[in-house]
Amino acid sequence: MLPLARITIIGLGLIGSSLCRAIRAEMPTVRVTGHDADPAVRDIARRIDLCDDITDTAGASVTDADLVILCVPVRAMGAAAAEIADDLPADAIVSDVGSCKADVLAQLSTALPHHSIVPAHPVAGTENSGPEAGFATLFKGRWSIVTPPHDADPTAVERVAELWRRLGAQVETMEPAHHDLVLAVTSHLPHLIAYTIVGTASDLEDVTRSEVIKYSAGGFRDFTRIAASDPTMWRDVFLANKDAVLEMLQRFSEDLSALQRAIRWNDGDALFTLFTRTRAIRRSIIEEGQDDAKPDFGRSH
Ligand code: NAP
Repeated sequence: MLPLARITIIGLGLIGSSLCRAIRAEMPTVRVTGHDADPAVRDIARRIDLCDDITDTAGASVTDADLVILCVPVRAMGAAAAEIADDLPADAIVSDVGSCKADVLAQLSTALPHHSIVPAHPVAGTENSGPEAGFATLFKGRWSIVTPPHDADPTAVERVAELWRRLGAQVETMEPAHHDLVLAVTSHLPHLIAYTIVGTASDLEDVTRSEVIKYSAGGFRDFTRIAASDPTMWRDVFLANKDAVLEMLQRFSEDLSALQRAIRWNDGDALFTLFTRTRAIRRSIIEEGQDDAKPDFGRSH
């Protein structure tokens, strides 16, 4: 298998700029070319020397690419792929980092029917956006889920998987639809709940806004971090992964009703049993190195 020599990153926000930095740090022989639709983002990327080349058009960024990774919001993937279709070398592999996969695979396959498409999703991020928010170690120790179509070329799949391993990620391969169901419960639903709670608190009339902010250490502030995530990205995720999110939301509503009933009927055993089970899940996350065991998420007080 030939090593990758030229990688193009399209979309230079949090994830795209982290990829540029990580590739330059871990694979210094690779030439990284970048493009973003926003001229202001391209200016910043040039100023902070994010890539070896930044091009003003998407087409110019891919003319000699071995691998192109689309790092744009999920509902912009099809348009971004269509923009490079005429200039993409026939043997280039196209991948992406979108947070949902079945919809993105459909968009990419429609825009680039003759190319090798190997979608992936690094399960790593922060609530910040833009080229200056990225950092080279974002993917270290995190999972990257590769979701190839049934007829994918195994060599292309291995090249994409190997890239993520080189950047420090652990790689798992999954069916796109299964990925969307798993991420609906582990990522999309938690974001929806955070957006709801923070919205509810800001609409309250008999508890003042300053009280909400003052006493936020009681738990609320941890939801506000998630609820500060990029509005465009998350609008797109919920619309593109609609079926899986609605399925998980239905289950969540039923479980919430059961808790409501337990509180109403003073069923302390039901509450205690659930809270004991959830505590064990937190322990497993720490044991698997996916979070820090320090109290209060390691905040200094
Ligand atoms: P971001 O910081 O907002 O960056 C996205 C960039 O893409 C913006 O600069 C945007 O420009 C640009 N863009 C939009 N449409 C484009 C197009 N057609 N061609 C070229 N550039 C275009 O977003 P992000 O957080 O990096 O997210 C990027 C992708 O990664 C999304 O698909 C998201 O689902 C996925 N992801 C995000 C996270 C996370 O935690 N943030 C984690 C894993 C995966 P404008 O701002 O001008 O539109």
